[in-house]
Amino acid sequence: MAYMPIRPQFNNEIKQKISEYVYTHDLQMYSVPPQGEIKFEELQQWCVDRLRVLKLVEQVSRQNYRMTSKYYVTILIEKLVNNGLHDFARLIRAHNYKSQNETEQRLRRNDCISHLILMSIFCFKYKEKKWFFKQEVKLFRWRLSLLNKDGIKAFNSANGLQYSTISEEEKQKIIEDVKRTYWYIKNIDNMKVYTVHFTSVINEVMKRQIFLRDGIAYVPETKMSWLILSEFKKQLNEGFTYSRQTASNIYNDGRLTKLVSILSTCNKTSYFKYNRRRRVSIKELDKLSKTSYPLCMRVLHEALKAKHHLTNGGRVQYCLFLKGIGLRLKNALRFWENEFTKKITKNTFQRKYRYTIRHLYGQEGKRAKYEPFHCIKILNSTVGLRDNHGCPFKCMTLDELKDTLIKCGLVRSDVESVMQLSKNGFYLEACKEYYEITHNCITRNTFDHPNVYFNYSCKMFESMYSGKFYQCAMINIMIKCSFIRLQIG
Ligand code: SF4
Repeated sequence: MAYMPIRPQFNNEIKQKISEYVYTHDLQMYSVPPQGEIKFEELQQWCVDRLRVLKLVEQVSRQNYRMTSKYYVTILIEKLVNNGLHDFARLIRAHNYKSQNETEQRLRRNDCISHLILMSIFCFKYKEKKWFFKQEVKLFRWRLSLLNKDGIKAFNSANGLQYSTISEEEKQKIIEDVKRTYWYIKNIDNMKVYTVHFTSVINEVMKRQIFLRDGIAYVPETKMSWLILSEFKKQLNEGFTYSRQTASNIYNDGRLTKLVSILSTCNKTSYFKYNRRRRVSIKELDKLSKTSYPLCMRVLHEALKAKHHLTNGGRVQYCLFLKGIGLRLKNALRFWENEFTKKITKNTFQRKYRYTIRHLYGQEGKRAKYEPFHCIKILNSTVGLRDNHGCPFKCMTLDELKDTLIKCGLVRSDVESVMQLSKNGFYLEACKEYYEITHNCITRNTFDHPNVYFNYSCKMFESMYSGKFYQCAMINIMIKCSFIRLQIG
């Protein structure tokens, strides 16, 4: 098993501080770099997951611009659970500072590592840096909103944050103005009022939310989050400069370069959106599996037809895909039952499998809205000998892949080109090549989601029947021919 040492170069004083550091709070400023060792697979998983979390943050924040942070964070946690991001959901939900056990330490340390690695990757390009900054700040703000008074106190003491307050005498002089500005805060007479230079809370100053006098901003205790957030933004900005300097460590290590390329691919990924109008019937599945399924789903469909069974990983991956393409629950139950009952009794099916299918459709248990799996999740699945799930371009041996592609009707030269990409680790490129060969066309983008692949394929066939396709196909064939001619030349 490959372990990554996490040993940045620091002077002795900082090293001492880092080695003694204990993560005392779920929420952090990410100011102390982690120390120790981590499995490469674990590091990769956390970084990929953090990127997915940030994308979900972006998605949730776009839903409604006027809601409170608490509302957003509740929706986010629900989405994290539905997308299988349980560790992050636990970290965000817990806003924990009392429990200091090993699991909490591991989660907090990995939270910090994934934040710092993504920061080192996104610090070079202005657009990416801006995107990362925006999502991390939103995530921090939402998490902060879950902390109560004690939680904030513990957070401040864990991060050495101290703010000056005004004396009672001074407070009496300005209390009427303070009350007028913060008219919506009850019981302000009995609260502490903090003072900072106005530049520390410039956003709130610009929104005219703060009481200002002689360049000093007066912030009541209940608005302490403004001060913490401003400190977080400041540290995040400074962190980018530091990350650029230390990023060379990343690019010197082959394993990390691989991680950077995986993350760059993930960063381009989009989330699949349901086409609620599309309905697919059981009868159509056989044909669709040949014309419009990506290879991962075609393999699962054919394995199910041949073995009349799929292991749990395959059932979940395929069932969610079918849900995504528009197979209704009633039909899904019939479809799985038809296949499984060729080997087991109807009763056994009802007892062992019916519940899971209904659960995946959000009709059992906590009624979660499970989404079809993304390629990254499929690529990272653990696959055993009896399993058929996972991405075939990654999980199959070269011989298996060759046989599968030949069975799908690919000619030798096409099989070779797909296998070459897959052998070199370009799984998404291999999938795109498979699409182009089976659809006799050229596409611009790689696919990052099996359901996006399916939708793309269906759209192509729809336009084919509506007449638009003929022209496109001719252009594509002409381009293809010119490529072939160029290669021959
Ligand atoms: S790249 Fe994605 S869509 Fe293509 S076969 Fe692999 S998992 Fe399926």
